[in-house]
Amino acid sequence: MTQVRSSNLGYPRIGEKREWKKALEQFWAGKISKDDFLATVKKLRLSYLKKQRDIGVDLIPVGDFSLYDHVLDTAVLFGLIPDRFNKGEQKISLETYFSIARGNKDAEASEMTKWFNTNYHYIVPEISNETKPFITENRLLALFKEAKDELGIVGKPVIVGPVTLLKLSKGYDSEAFSSLLHSLIPLYIQVLNELKNAGAEWVQIDEPILVKSLPAEELSVFRETYQALKDGVPGLNLLLQTYFEAVDNYEEVIKLPVDGIGLDLVHGREGNLKAIKTFGFPEDKVLAAGVIDGRNVWKTDLSSVFAELEALLDATGGKEKLIVTPSCSLLHVPVTIENEEELEPVLKNALSFADEKLAEAVTLTKGLNEGKAAIEKAIKENQKDLLALQESAHRNNKEVQKELNHLEKNFPSRPGSFKLRQQIQKDAFQLPFLPTTTIGSFPQTKEVRQARRNLRKGEWSKEQYDQFIKDETARWIKIQEDIGIDVLVHGEFERNDMVEYFGEKLAGFAFTRFGWVQSYGSRCVKPPLIFGDVAWKAPMTVKESAYAQSLTKKPVKGMLTGPVTIYNWSFVRNDISQADVFNQIALALKKEVHALEEADIRMIQVDEPALREGLPLKEDKKAGYLHDAVYAFRLATSFVNNDTQIHTHMCYSEFDEIIDAIDALDTDVISIEAARSHGEIIAAFEDFKYKKGIGLGVYDIHSPRIPSVDEMKSYAKRALQVLDPKLFWINPDCGLKTRKPEETIPALKNMVEAAHEVREELGNKVGE
Ligand code: GLN
Ligand code: ZN
Repeated sequence: MTQVRSSNLGYPRIGEKREWKKALEQFWAGKISKDDFLATVKKLRLSYLKKQRDIGVDLIPVGDFSLYDHVLDTAVLFGLIPDRFNKGEQKISLETYFSIARGNKDAEASEMTKWFNTNYHYIVPEISNETKPFITENRLLALFKEAKDELGIVGKPVIVGPVTLLKLSKGYDSEAFSSLLHSLIPLYIQVLNELKNAGAEWVQIDEPILVKSLPAEELSVFRETYQALKDGVPGLNLLLQTYFEAVDNYEEVIKLPVDGIGLDLVHGREGNLKAIKTFGFPEDKVLAAGVIDGRNVWKTDLSSVFAELEALLDATGGKEKLIVTPSCSLLHVPVTIENEEELEPVLKNALSFADEKLAEAVTLTKGLNEGKAAIEKAIKENQKDLLALQESAHRNNKEVQKELNHLEKNFPSRPGSFKLRQQIQKDAFQLPFLPTTTIGSFPQTKEVRQARRNLRKGEWSKEQYDQFIKDETARWIKIQEDIGIDVLVHGEFERNDMVEYFGEKLAGFAFTRFGWVQSYGSRCVKPPLIFGDVAWKAPMTVKESAYAQSLTKKPVKGMLTGPVTIYNWSFVRNDISQADVFNQIALALKKEVHALEEADIRMIQVDEPALREGLPLKEDKKAGYLHDAVYAFRLATSFVNNDTQIHTHMCYSEFDEIIDAIDALDTDVISIEAARSHGEIIAAFEDFKYKKGIGLGVYDIHSPRIPSVDEMKSYAKRALQVLDPKLFWINPDCGLKTRKPEETIPALKNMVEAAHEVREELGNKVGE
C-alpha cells in the first residue's frame, strides 16, 4: 500500500461531557462498584476508538487511555511503585494505583508536576538507585487485544519511552541512571514483543525529552537504547515520537535505529522545518508530520498546510513514508465542537477540537493520496470560515489596534524610583513594621457557590445576589479588622475563577459549554477562548473594591489578574503574536487600574501566578518571553502615581530562572509562596539581593491544618535572615478560597500574633 496515512498520537480521556471524570469520582466516592466503574470506562474507551475509526484515522492509538495519568500507567507497568505503597503485589490493584496518585490515609500521594510546558500534570515516578523494575501486567497488550477483538481495529500502542520515563522520575542518583535504564530495556523489549506477536505493526514510543537541550553523551544513551529495542523486537515498526518543540540535534536523531520519527511541525515548526531542509530526511524512515496544532483550538489552515505537506512528501522516500498527525496528543484540547450550540457562528466555524482536528488530518491525507482536487471543496470551505473570523469586527477593533501601534519600545516606567515611592507610601499608609495581609480570596463556601447558582438559574434577582456579595464582603472586612490584619482584601466572593471573571467582562473572549481539558486526575479546566481583540468595556472590580474600602479605615487592596496569567490560562488566537495579545490584555487592565485609582483604591494587586509556567522549553526563547511578560505587566501598572502601591502575587517557589524578571516588574510589593516549599525559596534570595517590598508565605494554605504561631514565626525569621526587615510583609502562601472559615480564621489569628511577636523580638524599631 503506497499511501500516505493519517494518525493520532492520543485521544482525550475525559469524554464529550466529562463522563470519564464522573465515573472516576463516583467510584472514588464509593457510589458505584468496581465492576460498574470498569464497565463504564471500557465503554468510553471503545467509543473513543470507534469514533476515531469513523472519522477515518488510519493509525489509531491504543494505551493512551488512562484511568488517571499515562506516566503513572507506564511506571506501574514496570513495577515502579513507591515503597510506601508497595504491598508486594505482582499485579497492581486499582486501589494501589489510585493511592499512588491521590494518597490514602496512611501515605501521601506521589508528587505531580507539569507535563513539559502544558497545563497537564503527571504523577512523578519515584525510583531509588536500588529499584528493580519488573513487568506487573502488560496493559498495552490487553488494550491492543481489546481494540482488535471488540472492534477489529489494529491499534498503534503508545508508550512513554524509557529515557523520558527515567528523566521524569525522581529519587535516584545520576550515577544510577545507566543501570536503571539497562534494567528497563529488556522489559520494554518483552512488552513490545508481546504486542508484535499479537499483531501490532507500529508502536509509538514517546520521547518528548528529545526537545529539551540534551548534552551529547545523552544522545549516545538514545542510540544504545534504540539499538537494543530494534534488535530485541525485529519486525515491529518503532515510531519515535517527539512533541512540544523542535528536536535538538536533529542530525543525530534521524540516525537513530527506528522506523519512523514524529516531529512537531507546529510548536517546533521553525526549528524542525529548517533541520529537514538542511539535513534532509532519511529515505528509510517514515516521517510522522505533526502539522495540526494539538494544543490549540483553531481550525488548521488547510490550504497552506497542504502545500507544506506536498513539500515534505518530496523530502521523504514516497507516500508510504509520510504520516499526517496532530502535533501532540489531543489530550490538551476539548473533545468536539459539536455540542457547542451557543457559540456565535463566526467563532464556532473557526474552531476545531479533537474530533475536528482528526478530520482535518484525514482530509489532508486524502488530498495527498488522491490529488488536491479531491479536497478542493473542503479547502474552500475552510478558507471561508477562517477569513470570516479574520474579517469580523471582533478582530478589527480599530481603537485597540491604534493603541497597540503607539506603544513605546522602552519599558513603561513609574514616575518615581522605588526608593522615592517607598518614602511616599510609608507616609501615606502609615503601616506598622512587618505589615500583615492576605492574598485576596476568602473561603468560597457552599453558600457562596449556591448564591452563584441561584443567580444563574434565575432563582435570585441580580439585586438579591449583589446584596449577598455585599453582606459577605462586609462580614469579612469585620473579621479581618477584628483579627488585626493591616492591609485588607474584599474577599473575591463575586468571582468564580480568577481568569473567567475578567474574560466575561472584557471584549474578545468567549466561553464554551463543554470545552474541558484534563488538568490532573479527574480535575478538568475549561479555558476561556481569546478569539478577538481584547478591550476594556466598563469597570470590572471597582464597585466591589470601593464598597469594601468604604467600610474600613485600613487600606483595602484592589485585586486583578495579570495579563500573562490571563493569556496562559486561555486558548489564544494564533493570528497575532503573543506579545500583541499580552499587550492588548495589558491595555485593558490599565484602564481598570486607572478606574481603581480614580475611585481612591490606593493599593492594587495584579496577580501573576502563571507567569513562570509560560516559560518556553527552549533556552533561547526564554528571554524574549520574559521581556514581553514584563513589558505587559508594566504597561498595565506602571503609570500610576507614586503613592499608589502596586502589589503582585505568585504562588510557586522556583525562581531561579525568573528572578531578574520579577525584579523588573518593579512592583512595590510581591507576595510569594514559601511555607509549602519549606523555605526553598530563601536560598534564591541569598544570591539575589531583593530590594523591594516582599512577603514570603508563612502559612501553607493547601492543607486544612492550622499552623501554630511558632511555626509561622520560624518561617518569618528564616526569611528575615536574607531579606531586609524594612521591606518584609507577613502573609499566607496563596488565596484562601479553598479553605473553610473555621480553618482560615484561627490560622490568620496565629499569623497576626506571629507578626506581633517577631516585631517585638526585633525591637519594633526597624520600620522607623
Ligand atoms: N488573588 C487570588 C486569590 O487570592 C490569587 C490566586 C492565585 O494565586 N492562584 O485567590
Ligand atoms: Zn497564589
